[in-house]
Amino acid sequence: MRIGRMNMTKIGFIGLGNMGGPMAANLAKAGLDVTATDLSIGAVDRAVEAGCQRGETVAAAVADADVVVTMLPAGAHVRSVYTEDYGVIANAKTGALFIDSSTIDVDSARAVIAAAAEKGFAMVDAPVSGGVAAATAGTLTFMTGGEAEAFERAKPVLEAMGKNIFHAGAAGNGQVAKICNNMLLGISMIGVSEAFNLAEKLGLDAQTFFDISSTASGQCWSMTSYCPAPGPVPAAPSNRDYQPGFSAAMMLKDMRLAQEAAHKAKAATPLGAQAEALFALMESAGKDNLDFSGVMKLINGKL
Ligand code: NAD
Repeated sequence: MRIGRMNMTKIGFIGLGNMGGPMAANLAKAGLDVTATDLSIGAVDRAVEAGCQRGETVAAAVADADVVVTMLPAGAHVRSVYTEDYGVIANAKTGALFIDSSTIDVDSARAVIAAAAEKGFAMVDAPVSGGVAAATAGTLTFMTGGEAEAFERAKPVLEAMGKNIFHAGAAGNGQVAKICNNMLLGISMIGVSEAFNLAEKLGLDAQTFFDISSTASGQCWSMTSYCPAPGPVPAAPSNRDYQPGFSAAMMLKDMRLAQEAAHKAKAATPLGAQAEALFALMESAGKDNLDFSGVMKLINGKL
């Protein structure tokens, strides 16, 4: 029943970059009728090769769509693509549902969802966790904010692109979940890096410290799944000279979004602020193309 309804669903997809390209391809692979557009003609060509239809403009891509999905760089792009005359709200058909999967600031997410609601459109923010590999494999995690009814409508579309689909509550809460999780991840990665570096300087090798701490109270994901010291976790980027993975540049983007939100909410995040500053040092050293666990190199002086 659901599959039958889904196959008749028309999707307008805007933003066919590293993430959006494979996400649109997975929607087409699931049998949906996807019209895709991007500022880059090459990106649209690739989407057409992957089974999407060519959308010459944003207006053309959304005109006939039941569901619009956007995957854009930042809040300014999302505000523009939704609210300007050429954009989604002005050109979508009555009753269409909007899903923005970009990682953006909470205020922009809430403002755009409110602008859509004002014109009678349901919309959710649904940022993702998992990088290009998960986008390609269709195993992304979606953290979704918005009305329960809009979430239920969005879910089958999100399921064609991801594995874990969460409803985080009201509009903007998907972005809140994403930046709070990534702030914690950035902080914990720095903490693990400091501990492994200190252990080594004091004569305790990485594997022995890992064996002890990973079964003791210092245990966390940054250690057991993504250890920044080479050796103990063979699949971790630390064993391939910190090739990403999840780049320090992307971690810094999320850290900055978290700090911006924290200032506005008057929430104390002293460790988040420190973590942002350390990832900014990777940026100024020109090393933010490394995986974020490459912050170990900053800590041990080998950057
Ligand atoms: P990207 O820069 O590769 O892609 C963005 C695309 O949007 C580009 O192709 C660009 O041409 C297009 N675009 C910009 N303005 C447009 C407009 N007005 N009309 C049409 N197209 C427009 O970025 P990405 O890596 O795909 O990331 C997209 C979002 O997902 C970002 O918010 C990012 O933070 C988030 N994200 C990325 C990753 C990752 O690993 N790359 C992981 C999780 C979340």
